Parts: sequence; C-alpha cells; structure tokens
Amino acid sequence: MPWVPRGLRDGILTTCWPCGGDDYFDGFDAAVTVRTDAPHGAPVAPAVTDAAAACPTAAISGQPRLQLDRGRCILCGRCVARAPDWFSWAPGCGTAELTRATLIVGQVGETDEALAAVRAALARRVRRLRRSVHIRHVDAGSDGSDEWEVYALTNPVYDVHRLGIFFTASPRHADILLATGIGTAGMTAPLRRTLDAMPSPKVVIAAGADAISGGLIGGGYTGDVGISELVDVDVWVPGAPASPFSLLHAILLALGRLPQDFKDTP
Ligand code: SF4
Repeated sequence: MPWVPRGLRDGILTTCWPCGGDDYFDGFDAAVTVRTDAPHGAPVAPAVTDAAAACPTAAISGQPRLQLDRGRCILCGRCVARAPDWFSWAPGCGTAELTRATLIVGQVGETDEALAAVRAALARRVRRLRRSVHIRHVDAGSDGSDEWEVYALTNPVYDVHRLGIFFTASPRHADILLATGIGTAGMTAPLRRTLDAMPSPKVVIAAGADAISGGLIGGGYTGDVGISELVDVDVWVPGAPASPFSLLHAILLALGRLPQDFKDTP
C-alpha cells in the first residue's frame, strides 16, 4: 500500500477555497483582458488590428471602441503576444458572470444596480437550495476538454463534496444544470428534456467558450450563441476549458455562496 506513506508525507492537499485563500486560484491566468493602461479612446493601434486579425474566434473588435469578448476567447494568447501594450493575462479564477454582456471587456454593459437586481433575483430563486446541492452535467457537443475540468471538481484537490456539492446522474435529483459544448442539433432535445425534468428551483450554468458562443466553430450551424439559444442561462463561465476553480466560482456564484469580500477577476 504505497499510498499510505505517500499520503502521510504529502499531508492535506485539498484547497481551503473559498473559506481561505489559495495561491493557485489567485494566480492562475484564467482570462485575457484589455490593459487598464491601454490608451482607451485613442485610435486603435495597428498592433490591435493585427491581434484582432490573428484571433481565431473573432473575440476582439476595435469599433466603435476596443472590446474583448471573454465568452468567445479560447485563451490562445495570440493577442497578448502581438499587442502586449493593449492585452494581458488576467490572473484569478473568478471569471464567472451573471450576464452575457458582462463578459465583454470594454463594453458599457449593465450598471451596478442592474447587476445587483439580477443577483438578487437569482438569490430569491435559489434560497430554498441549502447546504446540499446536486449538479447534472450535460455534454451538449463538447470536444472533451471541458469534461476533464468538470470531473476534476471531485478529486482530492478541489473536493466539492466538502461544500455539499454533488453530481447526480438523474435530472430529477438535480438543482443545477451544468452544460458544456456548443449545443449540437442532436443534443438540443436531450438538453431541454433534462432541464424540464429538473425540479424547481433550478439553475443553468454555461461552462466554457463553446457553451457560451460556440467557441472555435461559433458562427457555424450553432450560431454564435452556444447553448443559450436552447435553454435560459443564469451563469456564464468562460474559458477553453474553464478551470475547475472557475467552475467552482460559477457554482458558488449561482448559489449566492461566495465570500462577502470576494473580488472578481479584473
Ligand atoms: S487569447 Fe482570446 S482574445 Fe486573444 S487572440 Fe486568443 S482567443 Fe482571441
């Protein structure tokens, strides 16, 4: 039983987050952003035009103002390499948002009041979900990468069971629908049937750029909207794939269980 001495030697590996800090949560480059010291309002530089042309998912637009859509971004890093004065990695796994518009860096999106209203409405809806929450994960046409991150949530490092979060195979026992993938035609009916079979209150999380925008093949027959055309999405977590910490952030955001002093990824 070699795992016994190994376990004694390594000690506890399970993260403390969200009850305590975690360097990996804070330091992991889970998003790309427009630099705050970029010359906003100035004419877009040739380097930005070059970065936009190189972006494989058309996540960058320069007109009428510079915007970066995290819902489309697959984190390839080309924009950071080509226009480092304008784009940078944004450390931190707190990337989930309650509205699609909030994922677009540089867009004048919802006001703080509007976002607070969305958050309050969701909190009212989920208030009956207490300490034990069950998730039904549906692969609606993923490339498989999202699934590795979803399954990692139950490993000893993330161990979501310690937070009363469990996965279930039955939608009738599920509170949260966690959907990955682009929303293929073949998965349209199963996705909707799954949501219909879930008891209320229920929450839908779109996990990963594929589910949010179709990712690399957005604009094809799936359109640019991922699964949001098939079901109403409550929480959007970008990434390609979204990291386990970002998924956990999305789940706790949906449940209103983030620490009071938590700050999102810039
Ligand atoms: S990191 Fe994202 S925004 Fe930048 S080029 Fe790649 S996909 Fe586009």
